[in-house]
Amino acid sequence: MKMGATDNFYSIILPTYNERENLPLIIWLIIEAFTKLNEKFEVIIVDDGSPDGTQDAAKQLQAIYGEDKIQLRPRAKKLGLGSAYIHGIQFATGNFIIIMDADLSHHPRHIPQFIKKQRESSCDVVTGTRYRGNGGVAGWDLKRKFISVTANYVTQTLLNPGVSDLTGSFRLYRKEVLVDLISRCTSKGYVFQMEMMCLARSSGYTIDEVPIAFVDRVYGESKLGAGEIIQFAKGLMKLFATT
Ligand code: UDP
Ligand code: MG
Repeated sequence: MKMGATDNFYSIILPTYNERENLPLIIWLIIEAFTKLNEKFEVIIVDDGSPDGTQDAAKQLQAIYGEDKIQLRPRAKKLGLGSAYIHGIQFATGNFIIIMDADLSHHPRHIPQFIKKQRESSCDVVTGTRYRGNGGVAGWDLKRKFISVTANYVTQTLLNPGVSDLTGSFRLYRKEVLVDLISRCTSKGYVFQMEMMCLARSSGYTIDEVPIAFVDRVYGESKLGAGEIIQFAKGLMKLFATT
């Protein structure tokens, strides 16, 4: 049997809602990345009861790649991202957990960079950033860019968390650190990602960043609307008042 390059084991938690068209490609790219790295991994698909047949696609992928490599851990209905990670963690066997979106906005080619960064600095969290180095965003209209840049700017000014991209959700955590942070995190939606970084900082965990190119989803729809923006502003105020 071929041994991994290290003793590390990476569990990738992939929350899905109507990602039937994206799932085969993202899984293939993840497997390709880990095969090149020669590291041990598993993918945990947490599907929120997608009506589009995402779970059927996941089952076909399990048949191809094996149930040890692809776990399908569905939930009955759309319960949101934060709780999807909590659900996925229970099944994770890895000592590291990578969370990423399934819509190809987070390209698996960045995974080796996350792993390399963690190894170099031995940090607790590596977070992808669109706002440093050669990171960036492609495919967003001016409105969405404006919202994201403004949200990050206002947050930086108010909270000064020392992380350049607070609302991103492509991250690598030591498993015990993710479990600890998530158990104390109270927010949902976009604020969830931001509170996780603020909690990590205030708890003394070490955080490093990797520039990522974020590409807007090709298939399907995003859920960002006025409601999320208002939630974000409220959540930011709450964090500002409490940290
Ligand atoms: N997602 C989910 N449950 C939901 C909404 C979204 O599991 O209730 C997944 C979705 O399939 C994707 C990720 O969470 O993998 C991010 O969602 P989306 O791309 O819609 O958010 P955006 O990129 O617009 O912020
Ligand atoms: Mg997306």
